[in-house]
Amino acid sequence: MSEIDIPPDHPRYESLVTRHRIEDGVEKGITSLQGLIAEGRGEAFDYLLGEGTIDSAARAERVAAAHLLRADRPVLSVNGNAAALVPDELIELASVTEAKLEVNLFDRTAERVEAIASHLREHGAEEVLGLDPTERIPGLSSERGKVDAEGIYAADVVLVPIEDGDRAEALAAMGKTEIVIDLNPFSRSARHAQVPVIDNALRAIPNVTTHARELTDISRAESEEIIENFDREACLNAAERRIRTGGSNDETG
Ligand code: ATP
Repeated sequence: MSEIDIPPDHPRYESLVTRHRIEDGVEKGITSLQGLIAEGRGEAFDYLLGEGTIDSAARAERVAAAHLLRADRPVLSVNGNAAALVPDELIELASVTEAKLEVNLFDRTAERVEAIASHLREHGAEEVLGLDPTERIPGLSSERGKVDAEGIYAADVVLVPIEDGDRAEALAAMGKTEIVIDLNPFSRSARHAQVPVIDNALRAIPNVTTHARELTDISRAESEEIIENFDREACLNAAERRIRTGGSNDETG
């Protein structure tokens, strides 16, 4: 079945589109087999969260937009799952927030980096970093730690969708402001992020872009206020509550 064959009124439309894109990603050499497992884990959490953006995630998405706009050197990290799922959406977010796109992989191979970079270019990306990474994230073994000197290494704010916990932790330890998009509020990635966005990247990336468009012209003081008022623990707790109680709104229960 191709994506255009999936009926939009199917009750599990989003989930079917996600599966299709990831499957396609694996076939094109963009997504790894590990990425397939990550997708399965994500789906389970999405199901428990009600397959929609909960209020606390929507707030985190706004804060993520404020951080990206305020940053001097924002970077969007792109792995095999993100590239397969949301290539157009990532390119649009990069354009609205003037962020760079960097291919950054857990299971790094030159072929897969090249396949992802080509895929992003086919979708309209002009500049893609990460093809020739000369710097390292301290504390990570060789291949897993490689980063671009002009990208993640020099970045002040990094957005990492669907990331492995170990690398998210090492990035945070470098002192960067880390925005993590992860459906699992218990994951180490989410727990280490300054801004944990507990939502599906498929919904979260376009939501951050919408907020960024709205916030483009706000003053520095206003963006500071949005950032200062954010309570990351409350966000993680609200998502956990939503999962445990299955409530219709994460503010209740
Ligand atoms: P930990 O962070 O606890 O170490 P992990 O590194 O083992 O966990 P992985 O399975 O490697 O976790 O990472 C994938 C993470 O991405 C999972 O937490 C999963 O819930 C999440 N995930 C998968 N698909 C999506 C998606 N579409 N949007 C957001 N998050 C997703």
